[in-house]
Amino acid sequence: MSKSKFLYERALHVLPGGISRNLILRDPHPVYVAKASGFTVTDVDGKNYIDFSNNVASLIHGHAYPPIVEAVTEQLKKGTAYMLGTEIEIEFAELLTSRVPQFEQVRFVNSGTEAVMAMVKAARAFTNRPMIAKAEGAYHGSYDTAEVSQDPNPDNWGSYNNPKSVPHVVGTPDGVLNNVVVFPFNDAQTTIQILNNYKDKLAAILIDPVPHRISMVPAQRDFIYAIYDWCKAHNVLLCFDEVVTFRCDFQGAQENYPVKPDLTSLGKIIGGGFPIGALAGSKKIMDILNPRSTNYRYALSGTFSANPISMTAGKIAMEHYTQEKVNYLKALTERAKTQILDAAKSVGIPISLTGMGTFFRLFFTHPAPQHYRETYLYEQANKQAIKAALDYLYENGIIAINSLTFMPSTVMTEKEIDRLSEVILGMFKHVKPLIKEWR
Ligand code: PMP
Repeated sequence: MSKSKFLYERALHVLPGGISRNLILRDPHPVYVAKASGFTVTDVDGKNYIDFSNNVASLIHGHAYPPIVEAVTEQLKKGTAYMLGTEIEIEFAELLTSRVPQFEQVRFVNSGTEAVMAMVKAARAFTNRPMIAKAEGAYHGSYDTAEVSQDPNPDNWGSYNNPKSVPHVVGTPDGVLNNVVVFPFNDAQTTIQILNNYKDKLAAILIDPVPHRISMVPAQRDFIYAIYDWCKAHNVLLCFDEVVTFRCDFQGAQENYPVKPDLTSLGKIIGGGFPIGALAGSKKIMDILNPRSTNYRYALSGTFSANPISMTAGKIAMEHYTQEKVNYLKALTERAKTQILDAAKSVGIPISLTGMGTFFRLFFTHPAPQHYRETYLYEQANKQAIKAALDYLYENGIIAINSLTFMPSTVMTEKEIDRLSEVILGMFKHVKPLIKEWR
């Protein structure tokens, strides 16, 4: 019996489903890690993988990045959490605010989920309104409000022009559902029509500019402009979830849109491999978190918020994610995309690669699904092909995110990209008979 199988059987007794996060579940059992370094993960049975998931887009410099290991080791000896301030939290906030002009102030929290939650509550507190609007199918973490209509299906999603607010978890209170408005991503006209019904009650429009679960098709500029103008006209805050997309460019995906969000939530790469989240925005809005301000409306605390380990690792990760490194990672990503498109052509299968800058998602269809309902139908029709593709990649030493999404890291070279393309070529031949038309 493999060590991973043995561990899974032990895990089944003490962890529901044998897991602590759904993503690691694989057939017939999860893979358990012995160690990881750079782009390589070694499992407990001694097999090596090139890691293109990077813990779901959270390790921009790969595993055990030496400058982070060194600095965190030093900090560990000095303590890991205090009920007192630290200089490193100020330094890291200075770094983030100097990186992105619209980040005038930052509040650190412990996860992307918490960052989105803080963003929604801050918007409510600032506007004194209860509702938010979000795109159907968008994933924003596991906060009640943010997970509404994360995964609806044809039996409950309602009409395209007026999507229903569908609970993600059984027992979600009506109060939550009634305060979340759902719109179709990248359809400005329909979205504005929907928003107009709630203009006096909306606090925030929540947007992930390159939403992974919807399709990873970037938000069109016209879509963002339309929502931005609508928000300004009705005093609603435009809130970007850049928990994943901050890696897209030096200033995150928002660098690619001339209009900027009022608030941004961050997470993943800004923790340098440790748990983190952050809320960033203008002083005027962030002042509602300031206990000494007359504008104070939102008391937000967290036992591990701004702990010196996450601050130390995060600061180094971001210092080292220079414009040069961003360009390097974009070039590697482009190289992978070009090779993968060529491979698909040579095998004679339709594919699309969505994403922005430094990551991409692979679909066995062309053109790519444009909104959640299309992605849902594509995934239903191609469940078998997607699973076979992932299994093939794992068998051949490549870890991808389960949606067939790839997150290269700055420690990779053209060699790892070329190996990825080579394995994907074999994978295309393997899954070709399983690809199903869905439109
Ligand atoms: N927002 C987005 C866009 C995400 O992809 C995620 C996590 N994958 C989150 C929020 C939540 O982050 P976390 O898992 O750190 O809570």
